[in-house]
Amino acid sequence: MKEVILLKNGELALKGLNRHTFENQLIKNMKYRLHDLGKIRYVQSQSTIMVEPIDERVDLDEAFRRLKLVFGIAALSRCAAVEKNMDVIIPAACEYLKEELMFAKTFKVVAKRSDKRFPLNSPQICMEVGGAILDENPHLTVDVHNPELVVSVEIRDNYAYIHGNQTKGAGGMPVGTSGQAAILISGGIDSPVAAWMMAKRGLKLSAIHFASPPYTSQRAEMKVHQLLKQVAKYSGDINLCVVPFTHIQEEIKDNCPEDLFTLVMRRFMMRCSERIALDQGCSALITGESVAQVASQTMQAIRCTEAVVEDLPVFRPLIGMDKDEVIEISRKIDTFDISIQPYEDCCTVFTPKHPRTRPQVKALEEAETALDVEGLIDEALSNLRFVSISG
Ligand code: ATP
Ligand code: MG
Repeated sequence: MKEVILLKNGELALKGLNRHTFENQLIKNMKYRLHDLGKIRYVQSQSTIMVEPIDERVDLDEAFRRLKLVFGIAALSRCAAVEKNMDVIIPAACEYLKEELMFAKTFKVVAKRSDKRFPLNSPQICMEVGGAILDENPHLTVDVHNPELVVSVEIRDNYAYIHGNQTKGAGGMPVGTSGQAAILISGGIDSPVAAWMMAKRGLKLSAIHFASPPYTSQRAEMKVHQLLKQVAKYSGDINLCVVPFTHIQEEIKDNCPEDLFTLVMRRFMMRCSERIALDQGCSALITGESVAQVASQTMQAIRCTEAVVEDLPVFRPLIGMDKDEVIEISRKIDTFDISIQPYEDCCTVFTPKHPRTRPQVKALEEAETALDVEGLIDEALSNLRFVSISG
């Protein structure tokens, strides 16, 4: 029996005239994600996309696993594609869904007929298929309101498609349809989640990481690579820019008041990031900040770090979330176990004992007069290293 994957693209269907751009990007993303699995045909009609293996060797289980992570897909199901003839459809439905039918207690049949030339209408298809299922599975009862199993029969141009319950997709918008943004990524729990959340809204990601060797180790950077590799399973490839941060941090330590270390450092991060992001064609910065999580994330502190960003919006998708909620997502997207590996981050290297929690922009500007801000940034930006990360 020929098997295909049927996708519903949810939110995309709402996009009116832009729909085709969104669908085309989604198909492009899927093709890229499945390119090594063999020859596959992608057929779109209304708000569904059919993924049809042409090559017998295509591993449909693996294709399904990967497609579950692709943003822009609301729901997906594996289905049997059979000849449009009730003598074929009925036994195929009983056979293809045998296991699900065996384990369910209640079911209903839903039929859709986009090929209006098909001799039976939808209620008739439901009656016939439902009747045959009941004959073969006397333990089942029909429940039209809240069935455990929904058997779908869709009569389309070339085939009749039969499937059971749909699996929820990753949702969101296809990556690339909302432009590109740069995630400031540490090795922590928050920033990979922030990256995932914005990729879900259709943003293609670049990443920026500040490293302070020898205070931070090569293994700390490898942890960031690992985190991005996991995020890239959803977002597609990510270009990572590693910024040498040691000299800037030492200068801050030697010349600025201790209670302002973290904020001066974060202002340097934002300044460097904005320049790198603009250079890479990004239209926003993304951070994993959340109000009140740490001293550098009070409203006043955020005001101080934001004050140095001139041309780009800063997206903070976790701003109103509790740590518990962030952890729940990080477990779901499999970044949690990587994040909790105990490697140092440059933020923790020179942490002041008593950071100022209600800083004023003026106090920071004054502290920074002791530094050659532009010179330090230029020096860091002339020694960038780029790493391409695939999922
Ligand atoms: P995370 O779990 O993301 O590390 P955090 O709670 O430890 O977050 P901070 O260390 O205050 O928060 O950092 C806040 C944000 O600043 C991070 O979410 C991240 O976006 C950015 N950031 C922190 N350290 C780095 C770094 N070394 N390189 C790039 N960005 C960083
Ligand atoms: Mg951190």
